[in-house]
Amino acid sequence: MAVPGEIRRLEEAVVNRIAAGEVIQRPANAIKEMVENSLDAKSTNIQVILKDGGLKLIQIQDNGTGIRREDLEILCERFTTSKLQKFEDLASISTFGFRGEALASISHVAHVTVTTKTADGKCALRCSYCDGKLKAPPKPCAGNQGTQIIQGETVADVRTLPNASTLDNIRTIFGSAVSRELIEVSFEDPKFAFKMKGYISNANYSVRKCIFLLFINHRLVESSALRKAIEAVYAAYLPKNTHPFLYLSLEILPQNVDVNVHPTKHEVHFLHEDSIIESVQRYVESMLLGANSSRTYFTQTLLPGAAITSSDIVKPLAAGSSSVVRDPGDKPSARQLVRTDAREQKIDAFVQAANKPAGVLPVLPAAGLPRCQDSEMLDTSDFEIPPGTEAGNSAQVGEQCSPPCGEGPSRKRLRVDSPSDGNEEDSGHNMTAAHLPKRRIINLTSILSLREEIDNQNHTGLQDMLQNHVFIGCVNPQWALVQYQTKLYLINSTKLSQELFYQILIYDFGNFGVLRLSNPAPLYELAMLALDSPESGWTEEDGPKEGLAEYIVDFLKTKAEMLQDYFSLSIDEEGNLTGLPLLLENYVPALEGLPMFILRLATEVNWDEEKECFGTLSKECSQLYSIRKDYTLSDSLGSLHLGQQEELGSDKSWKWTVEHVLAKAFRTLLLPPKLFAENGFILQLANLPDLYKVFERC
Ligand code: ADP
Ligand code: MG
Repeated sequence: MAVPGEIRRLEEAVVNRIAAGEVIQRPANAIKEMVENSLDAKSTNIQVILKDGGLKLIQIQDNGTGIRREDLEILCERFTTSKLQKFEDLASISTFGFRGEALASISHVAHVTVTTKTADGKCALRCSYCDGKLKAPPKPCAGNQGTQIIQGETVADVRTLPNASTLDNIRTIFGSAVSRELIEVSFEDPKFAFKMKGYISNANYSVRKCIFLLFINHRLVESSALRKAIEAVYAAYLPKNTHPFLYLSLEILPQNVDVNVHPTKHEVHFLHEDSIIESVQRYVESMLLGANSSRTYFTQTLLPGAAITSSDIVKPLAAGSSSVVRDPGDKPSARQLVRTDAREQKIDAFVQAANKPAGVLPVLPAAGLPRCQDSEMLDTSDFEIPPGTEAGNSAQVGEQCSPPCGEGPSRKRLRVDSPSDGNEEDSGHNMTAAHLPKRRIINLTSILSLREEIDNQNHTGLQDMLQNHVFIGCVNPQWALVQYQTKLYLINSTKLSQELFYQILIYDFGNFGVLRLSNPAPLYELAMLALDSPESGWTEEDGPKEGLAEYIVDFLKTKAEMLQDYFSLSIDEEGNLTGLPLLLENYVPALEGLPMFILRLATEVNWDEEKECFGTLSKECSQLYSIRKDYTLSDSLGSLHLGQQEELGSDKSWKWTVEHVLAKAFRTLLLPPKLFAENGFILQLANLPDLYKVFERC
């Protein structure tokens, strides 16, 4: 056990040169001084008890060296210290105290009782002080090794444990909310001869008031310059008007630090101050950046769009082109204002202007089937809408599939199989009621049940999003960007269009128009093409391709009547495909998908059970109709016609089709299944309020 130092009176000259004037302004000053005394006395356990914030009682108990019996007489006199003897000692001082002032000052403002025991003392001694003077000779008493100083009654407010780490102590004093968010820092800069250790809060944590515990050579000090420099770093990471927590311990060569610039020793100055501050600043920044990569972005929990709930659905403003997210009665903040409108100009208008050729290019022939010898056969220009004289499946019937005018009526209203609803559907078309074809009423239980499944799976939040979205642009044939209120979404056009066509097939079952091929496509050749492609998975074990292809033709011919009747899928007596259903006005499926479609019709459709049959057949058909990256990209139409597609009339690019045909149908016809909120087909990329938060910090 270390022995106590001897208390001596400082020489007058030394007293004057120190130019102290220590004043105990608040209980906190007294506590700080006494805790420092305990630390100077090599204590490893310090207990602080306060009542009424120290106004009624302060009790400090330590397990340090204790005070020698012979020193108790002058303990509370001014300028009595065991730590400093000569002025020169100041340069290399390693203790907190050195002026011998604190206890004297305290004894002038409070009743001080000291109980102390040294290692070699037989028992503890207790004495009381008033105005720097010992009131009565020390009284022997029972007591532990160390010193207890009381000013006034007792219960620990802060209690540190013997083996506690710095982090434990931070947790005890400041709570676990902050201690959880701390990054340990440790840094050495040989150039300016200093070391730094500590804990700094990460970018996820912030408080209203900055807590900056700075220790320089283990002394708690203030350095406004360093505080400002560090706050500047955090300002880039934390929300406005919030601050970090920092516990930094700097070790600088004692001769480089001037601790004596302030009476309370609060403010310190040190050599190379600017360089050291800059160095610390850079280091803190690098730590924050490093920690930032693992930062929690809470918006990600919103992905992939499942967050769209009915509470998100906001009534648009009665007038004007802005829609606003707000609580009734609240004035919306700028970040909640949406300044876009479906009727306004889109970003494409600016981007494409440069590509636009002076004149309109002649219509290029559409790409045919890549491996098909007779490319003419499946040319899109070979599709013709038959005149409206054909009963049932006429072009006008086909128009029933086109999206109705007006925004957002629910599919249920659109799809009821009654003549009156038929009228409603066609309002907006230039047709008179007299020309309206009769819509077949489908009462098949299988179809009714498939429709019910679609209705039950509908995600109303996503539906509202699709109904009211603003189309931004295509990323590629598979992905498109749309905006809904203050949020930006990436939607999977392939998957959404597939679901759309499936739903059209189920809801318009038995009521399709026809896309007629002017040159019939032999099913045999289509089946052979499919079997030749690796996608078919054909192996020698399956038998010769020719035999399989023949079987497929014969089999599908037996189903021709049903396929024609319900799906407008026409197969003639010679085994040629002559027509496909017209599912959506202005939409022709990519014909590259036909061979696999024919193969899968024979192999993947469950032909035994009615409901299964219509369901799987519609699935296969919807796959053929969905917009697909592989086919659209190989299609020269997309790239060659970029920029002039608007003028080309019927010959549209996939971009035009996604925006003006598919997205429009997503708005009015699609009932998005709940699954879309979870499987990543609709992804929320960004939202305006969060973007504001980012830009506010810039
Ligand atoms: P300083 O800390 O500047 O020396 P103080 O008035 O704070 O002056 O204390 C005077 C002296 O009393 C110290 O130098 C030290 O020797 C002794 N002392 C005070 N508190 C304690 C303690 N808790 N344990 C041992 N010695 C103490
Ligand atoms: Mg002291």
